[in-house]
Amino acid sequence: MTNSNDKQFSESDLESLIALQSLTSRIVKNSLRLSAGPQSGDFREKAVAYKRLKSQFDAVSSEIEALKADQLQVEAELARFSGELEKSKKLLANSSQKEYRFNPKLQLQISELDGKVTEYTEAELRIIDKLEALEKKSAQLDADVKVAYREAAVSKAELDRLKAEVDEVQDELNRELDILRSSLSEVVLSNLKRVPSEIVDKVSLLVGGSCGGCRLMFSSSLSEKIRRSPSSPNFCEECGRIVVSG
Ligand SMILES: [Zn+2]
Repeated sequence: MTNSNDKQFSESDLESLIALQSLTSRIVKNSLRLSAGPQSGDFREKAVAYKRLKSQFDAVSSEIEALKADQLQVEAELARFSGELEKSKKLLANSSQKEYRFNPKLQLQISELDGKVTEYTEAELRIIDKLEALEKKSAQLDADVKVAYREAAVSKAELDRLKAEVDEVQDELNRELDILRSSLSEVVLSNLKRVPSEIVDKVSLLVGGSCGGCRLMFSSSLSEKIRRSPSSPNFCEECGRIVVSG
């Protein structure tokens, strides 16, 4: 707590300071409704939930796309091996030539192609199974994403409504503040200038021996002094507000 060398506050200055304290604390409380209210946190939470689900959905979608591309490749290979197998089998079956019918090389080729056809058929079945599971997951995620989006939109609308309400009250309070400011004396104005600019409510009340702005507990002699000589400007040494007895 420091004593100011500025001139003393008059009775009407003290009234203005108390009015200023009341008005600016309403301004602070009003803006806190938006920044510290549950609506902001709720919207952030819903937006994060939506984004998380959407990215999961996108990941599954690209997994499905990649798998479908694999499927096309496997299908093409399967068609090629099946075609070759058919050809070789026909060659073997229709051949009147002894060397074909008992050609071990052709037999081996048929058996290898047969193995390939089985291998690729199994591979395709595995892909189909995986796709089925992924499509199911994708459908569930799609539904979840839609729900999350709607919830986030509702939350956003609520936040916007609150914001409009807070802005409206703020405009009204600012108008009142302008009027009050224009009526302040030089002594009050010069003392207000000494309070840190980032502080909106520049005047605090003495509350049970503490600064009502930052809750710093004053010594009992200082509290007493503020009460007994309200006309001398006193500043809280913690937050820098002008402290008045109220
Ligand atoms: Zn303080």
